[in-house]
Amino acid sequence: MSDYGSGDELLADVNVEGLVSGTKRGRSLSHDQTREVKLSKRTKAEEPDDNDDLIDRVAKTTLKENFGFDQFRHEQFSAIRSILRGENALVVFPTGAGKSLCYQIPAVAFEKIDAAKNDRDQMGSGITIVVSPLIALMKDQVDALLRRGIAAACLDSSKTYEQMQETNAAIREGRLRMLYCAPERLNNEGFVESMKHVPGGIRLVAVDEAHCISEWGHSFRPDYLKVARFIQEIKAERVICLTATATPRVADDVARAFNIDKSNVFRTSPYRPNLQLLAESVNTKQDKFPKLFKFLKEHPGSTLVYVTLQKQAENLASDLSKQGFKTAAFHAGLKAEVKTQIQDDFMAGRIPIVVATIAFGMGIDKPDIRNVLHFDLSNTIEEYSQQVGRAGRDGKPSHCMLYICNDDFYLKENFARGDLPSRQSLRRLLEDLFTRQPVHTPEGEIIKLNQLSLGQDYDFRASPLAILLATLELRFGLIRAVTPEYSVYKFEAMQSYKRYVGGDYSKEGKAIFYNATQARKWYTVDINAIMRSTGLLRADLIRKLNDYNDRGIIVLKASGVENRYKILKKLPSAPEEIDELTDKLYVDMEIKEKDALRRTQEVADLITGDKCFALALAQYFGMGLPDGKTKCDHCTHCLTGKRVMLPPKPTPTVNMTAIQKILAVCKVRDDPRFLARVAFGIKSPRVFELKLHNNSVFASLEDHDFDLLLREFTRACEAANSKKTD
Ligand code: ADP
Ligand code: MG
Repeated sequence: MSDYGSGDELLADVNVEGLVSGTKRGRSLSHDQTREVKLSKRTKAEEPDDNDDLIDRVAKTTLKENFGFDQFRHEQFSAIRSILRGENALVVFPTGAGKSLCYQIPAVAFEKIDAAKNDRDQMGSGITIVVSPLIALMKDQVDALLRRGIAAACLDSSKTYEQMQETNAAIREGRLRMLYCAPERLNNEGFVESMKHVPGGIRLVAVDEAHCISEWGHSFRPDYLKVARFIQEIKAERVICLTATATPRVADDVARAFNIDKSNVFRTSPYRPNLQLLAESVNTKQDKFPKLFKFLKEHPGSTLVYVTLQKQAENLASDLSKQGFKTAAFHAGLKAEVKTQIQDDFMAGRIPIVVATIAFGMGIDKPDIRNVLHFDLSNTIEEYSQQVGRAGRDGKPSHCMLYICNDDFYLKENFARGDLPSRQSLRRLLEDLFTRQPVHTPEGEIIKLNQLSLGQDYDFRASPLAILLATLELRFGLIRAVTPEYSVYKFEAMQSYKRYVGGDYSKEGKAIFYNATQARKWYTVDINAIMRSTGLLRADLIRKLNDYNDRGIIVLKASGVENRYKILKKLPSAPEEIDELTDKLYVDMEIKEKDALRRTQEVADLITGDKCFALALAQYFGMGLPDGKTKCDHCTHCLTGKRVMLPPKPTPTVNMTAIQKILAVCKVRDDPRFLARVAFGIKSPRVFELKLHNNSVFASLEDHDFDLLLREFTRACEAANSKKTD
């Protein structure tokens, strides 16, 4: 989910002076003053005074007074204590265990501790920033905090100009305790700058879903890599990272990135005694249907059925309806209203069965989900663990069934392989990036690009492209993302539009009125074109549009995002330099592909291994079963005493006739990986460009081993190219 929205532009214009000059006590602090105060505070805290007693007391009263709970759960208290002492911490608790309190309590407690110590009266108690990727969850938390009388706000794309201004004023005047934002916000230099000047400073940054920072996590988000830099830049006092799923490797990554001591990593076992982990192996995908129908008849109650593709979700839901089950499909392709409706119906028990892709579940806190079924193999063990973890939150017995067959691997491999572009694509893309004409701006030399069209031009999928750009930024220090811009704005005109805007004789008003082009409902404003033809400033035009929006004259929507990167170092330009960089980057990308394939294999290994499922799952996350047990006594392995076996796979061979057919249809000889992708059925921009996706050769060898295909096409390309040079 992107957090870019009209509000972002407004923050980019934030006046730093304005932010600092209006503090409660009518006095601003320079950076050095802030640091001084902080240092003296540190030494005070380190004195062997009654600090620990005070911390413990305040933490407990805050739990009771502000949140209405009597006792801490799990390791909540240890984590909160280390944060209040000024240390960094990592919390790994399963979903629903209560991670939020680990930062919400400190956020409220700082002020109380400051007051008790008579500390900081000059500068206020600062704020806690929560970085979280899910806007919907942030909003829920902010609403809940406001109901409890805790001053919290959320900066996201849905906020109006006034709401943004109100939040900024609250920060400036020291009225706000907690500020939620998405990681994309950290690309906004206006935001970063303003956070450096918050009265009282940033007491704590909480990084939710912290596994996203690790390339070895299951949902790596390049923007998360910038969180650590952000924390340094704004001189946050301490950090708490939180996640429900972290392998030891991911936990190490997070601890290293945020300077967290081993002794401050707090974990609880993912083992859930009321979940029965089951699995069954079948010969073909078709064999799964009767098994699923039978299972659902025998196990009533709220049920989630997970599949991989949106289309599968639709089809399976319709199959289930025909069998008489009350069900709905849920996936990211549905309209927001439809999604909300399905979620509500599921929560209220009106729809007992939802067939869903990975899109369903985040933030679903239904206590009585009785069954979680995997109609397809999960992509990773983390994903499996999170999805089965949604069952039985009420502690009552619940079933988790996974159906596995050899066909399952194809779809997963298709995804993983599709994320690795060919080396040529990477080389050409880098060359394009580095030879673009930079724009001179007051911020420095800026290059602009549109990720969507860049991906299309060079046959790159969105996720590897985003990772590539983050790597150029963080590992090679060549560029730095700054606030993106919208080149195109759309708006819907309200009744007063013609009268009001037509009568607005300001330069910007006229420019907008005469340049907005109307299609049926929406008007389009091409900001870049207006800037070129009128010489007006982007910021002024956007301010005008926002002003109309705020007055209810138009309903404004931004689209056509243009990413902007500041050039930090001389960019490679010699062919050898670009080659060298290409090699370095490509090695990483190949490792990622192998890694994705390995992760799916690990899910299959867990299911088909000779071990209790619950034990294998706990061990994957670096833990064991309670009391050193080695069996849960109710998973498929424990119940049958046998491993789940997949039918043997046939030895791979290559259908040479089909290979020849592909070579006859597709004349590409500079990119063997591309040919292998066509044979395997992996769609990409170049496939569409050559109109191969509708050709019968496309996916004609989808049952083949991808590496064998690659070998054959490499041979064919080499032969063709050597003929050319002869
Ligand atoms: P997580 O982020 O780990 O998934 P949440 O922080 O959303 O979990 O907490 C889940 C639920 O548990 C919330 O409704 C929260 O109020 C409740 N909760 C958390 N800690 C406690 C506690 N110590 N006592 C009672 N309820 C708690
Ligand atoms: Mg949470």
